[in-house]
Amino acid sequence: MGRAFVYVIVGGGVAAGYAAHEFVKRGVSHGELCIVSEEPVAPYERPALSKGYLLPEAAARLPSFHCCVGANEEKLSPKWYKEHGVELILGTRVKSADVKRKTLLTATGETISYKFLIVATGARALKLEEFGVNGLDADNVCYLRDLADADRLVDVMKSCSGGNAVVIGGGYIGMECAASLVINKLNVSMVFPEAHCMARLFTPKISSYYEDFYKSKGVKFIKGTMLSSFDFNSDGKVTAVNLRDSNKLPADMVVVGIGIRPNTSLFEGQLTMDKGGIKVNGKMQSSNSSVYAVGDAVAFPVKTFGETRRLEHVDSARKSARHAVAAIMEPDKTSEFNYLPFFYSRVFTLSWQFYGDNVGNVVHFGDFSENSFGAYWINKGHLVGSFLEGGTKEQYEAIAQATSLKPAIQDSARLERQGLGFALTF
Ligand code: FAD
Ligand code: NDP
Repeated sequence: MGRAFVYVIVGGGVAAGYAAHEFVKRGVSHGELCIVSEEPVAPYERPALSKGYLLPEAAARLPSFHCCVGANEEKLSPKWYKEHGVELILGTRVKSADVKRKTLLTATGETISYKFLIVATGARALKLEEFGVNGLDADNVCYLRDLADADRLVDVMKSCSGGNAVVIGGGYIGMECAASLVINKLNVSMVFPEAHCMARLFTPKISSYYEDFYKSKGVKFIKGTMLSSFDFNSDGKVTAVNLRDSNKLPADMVVVGIGIRPNTSLFEGQLTMDKGGIKVNGKMQSSNSSVYAVGDAVAFPVKTFGETRRLEHVDSARKSARHAVAAIMEPDKTSEFNYLPFFYSRVFTLSWQFYGDNVGNVVHFGDFSENSFGAYWINKGHLVGSFLEGGTKEQYEAIAQATSLKPAIQDSARLERQGLGFALTF
């Protein structure tokens, strides 16, 4: 059994949705494009799963957050794909790929051939088992990567209201889920190995602002340690988390956010890899000229940094996907991907954005007691990164613009005094 398409996207997440939108905008004929996705639903805005999806009231549910609503563009419902002749093969895992033959084999035994392939397989959540802790089968240990995980998390959270939740990991999932658990009236403890939350991005000063805010909402932080094991009851549910420092935390539920691994196994040994992802050039083209790769699964040249990086954020998934489609459909008119890294989060009443790179010396500015502050990163005499909490649209645009221009900074003390005003001059 086999089908042939001109363009095939493997993976049906954020990047797939934006790629399909770009293909249709640029004009593909009915029947030329297909998406094969393990998930049973059309591409959606994954960031909603740790935010609106977890609200106790008026929670976001599909179809409200299908791509591309996250970028304020049209919503691609299943009907949209049908109307534009885009084949959606859902609930179907691709189990192998042969880039020489230009074919994919699905778990249902179908062979799908392509002229151009876009790999948009994203990433999977790391599991505690990979760190030697058993607990995967417990009903009340939750991960969060897809809709099924989010539904499970909602069910467990509802069944534990008023109880104790332990959040493992102090990164994005940990911080956003801890906030949602508090809003759902659970007593939350966060456990992570670093000295402060969001250690890979935040400075200690920025982290301490967010930690104090979380503490004011009742969250406890247990830092510099990791879990060593769980206690279980006779139903196989976790009842407590044992820490390496010998402390025990009672737990009615556990949420684990300890990082991800890109889904690249289909292409190991077939495509060049770098930094854990599929290596591509500035046109998102892999070491095989018919295969492009986008989103979390890809390592691409980030011009601003002058090096290849893998980014795990929605903005780069959206933009790399659109760029790959442009490069496939109009190769001569498409230049190298010129991307300014952009990360953000929204928790409780807080909201921050970051642009660029967090290397070099940091200059904090603004008033940390008034929820109006930020930071600049200066490397080799130039502004390379900017962070702002609680900004307006114009202010965020200003820090993005300033960062993209990499202005020379001669006087850090002056920059600190100017604060946000510096970015507003660009
Ligand atoms: P994904 O969206 O993960 O999509 C990958 C798709 O490929 C999935 O549908 C998967 O099922 C499918 N797939 C994988 N392997 C196969 C296979 N063999 N066969 C068929 N299908 C396959 N980023 C931000 O910048 N801001 C945020 O606020 C934010 N919030 C987030 C909240 C959550 C809960 C999560 C999990 C992530 C969040 N992110 C956020 C990160 C962002 O969602 C990702 O960077 C983005 O989804 C990456 O897009 P992608 O298309 O590469 O991968
Ligand atoms: P992160 O990489 O952000 O954070 C992982 C956290 O877990 C770090 O604090 C890490 O510490 C810690 N950790 C690692 N191993 C262990 C361990 N064995 N035990 C305890 N803690 C451990 O990953 P997340 O899981 O939080 O997020 C998953 C993905 O989802 C990421 O790609 C992220 O970008 C994305 N996401 C993005 C959001 C956003 O942009 N707003 C929101 C939600 C998710 P260490 O640094 O020492 O390894």
